[in-house]
Amino acid sequence: MRESADTAGQEGLRRQPMLIGGEWVWAASGETITVENPSRRVPIAEVPRGGAADVDKAVEAALAAFASWRKLPPRERGRLMMRIADDMEARHEELARAIAEETGNALRTQARPEVRTAIEMFRYFGGVASETKGETLPLAHDVLSYTQREPLGVVAAVIPWNAPFVLASVKIAPGLCSGNTIVMKTAEDAPLAVLMLAEICQAHLPPGVLNMLAGTGPECGSPLLHHPHVAKLSFTGSTGVGKLVMEAAAKRILPVSLELGGKSPSIVYPDADEDWVVEGIVAAMRFTRQSQSCTAGSRLFLHRSIYDGFLEKLVAKAAQLKIGDALDEASDVGAIINERQFRKICGYVEDGQRQAGSRLVMGGLPDTDGPLSRGYFMRPTAFAQADNDWRLAREEIFGPVLVAIPWDDEDEVIRMANDSHYGLAAYIWTHDLGRALRAARDVEAGWVQINQGGGQLPGHSYGGYKQSGLGREFSLSGMLDSFTQTKNITVNLTR
Ligand code: NAD
Repeated sequence: MRESADTAGQEGLRRQPMLIGGEWVWAASGETITVENPSRRVPIAEVPRGGAADVDKAVEAALAAFASWRKLPPRERGRLMMRIADDMEARHEELARAIAEETGNALRTQARPEVRTAIEMFRYFGGVASETKGETLPLAHDVLSYTQREPLGVVAAVIPWNAPFVLASVKIAPGLCSGNTIVMKTAEDAPLAVLMLAEICQAHLPPGVLNMLAGTGPECGSPLLHHPHVAKLSFTGSTGVGKLVMEAAAKRILPVSLELGGKSPSIVYPDADEDWVVEGIVAAMRFTRQSQSCTAGSRLFLHRSIYDGFLEKLVAKAAQLKIGDALDEASDVGAIINERQFRKICGYVEDGQRQAGSRLVMGGLPDTDGPLSRGYFMRPTAFAQADNDWRLAREEIFGPVLVAIPWDDEDEVIRMANDSHYGLAAYIWTHDLGRALRAARDVEAGWVQINQGGGQLPGHSYGGYKQSGLGREFSLSGMLDSFTQTKNITVNLTR
């Protein structure tokens, strides 16, 4: 950390304060949270355990900063985003290592690409900052009617731990570009890299424009979402907490954006029994992020005619992934975020093993001794001959557990794919364009990929159907919808 962070530490622990009104501070209560490295199960840092008093200060600082920040020309705000991106670039490796250490996401396969995407995010939104524009409405010859986009005010943003750096960036860059100020709460399991991002941003921003809190959901997140001076709620996390966020929004009729959970289908047609599809399924399942991804293609619908052979190839491919310490360059797959998630995922594996008719084709419960027992490591796991009604197929596991469901008929597979209260992503694998586009049309998901299993990039229109969320992020239209409000001004030209 730089000067803003006290790195002297106690007993080797790094001590990282939070950012309120341009100052680096500890919680008013004096309480702290210890951050753990999940690859080694060791504490690495202490951050403040922020509470309602800290939230009050942060929101007041953001409100005070809003008055002048909103008046800055958008291109000027965009220019500041570009400078932030340049500083992120300069500290790219340091940021990636911080992400890998605290999240357990492998440095080479996940953390470095995550920083790259976040940098691109600041550049993308910096570049479109001036597109926060309105339109003229042709109502009558002697009437001028036009709209203008205005910022909302103080945005309360709450983010999860699974890809904290990019998920923070996708709120900070468009939120600030469009003239809002922000109070963000980091995730208690992975606050460090995002606090470093706040440090980079702070070097270019007036005090109070961006405030970065650390704390738990109930103690810090909840008072933030319920604060009377907050004008917008922007949340990424589980569907369960998303419902609480929506309740908070309902109390004050606040605009709300929700990026929530998923249980995404990956549909393989008979003509797609090929190695590149196997690789695509491994990518879409996000095994290299321990499948701790909202877009993980965790329900694999395999046509019955290719079922056994395809699964064999998938097992062989997944077996090549090297699991280990997130900071090890050789690791493809890192560690599960914490003990609670680790035990929860083990519970799903046990549930799958007990399920009548189930067949475990790879992975299973984690090692209890040996090198992989030192961290929260799990192998990619898959159950064959699964049924879409199983608990494993209905609930978001948020871990590397795949269910492979056989199908025979196109209508049937689309019906099964849509039989979920989630609707975030979907993956379709076939050479037949008509079939692919029919499936893409009919599947209930906010983001459908055909013959690829990549992650979101700046410019995508990204968000969920059904209980996977409300609103869109990652794109200009997402920025306009999520972070601005429209005013219509109508002028009588004859008076
Ligand atoms: P979570 O909902 O438990 O926590 C997310 C954030 O909300 C954390 O910062 C947490 O402290 C805070 N929080 C918890 N309770 C709160 C409360 N009562 N009031 C206010 N804030 C509260 O989710 P998680 O376990 O951190 O993340 C995993 C979930 O996030 C998965 O469901 C995943 O699918 C989802 N996710 C969705 C997207 C997306 O873009 N759709 C992206 C990443 C993760």
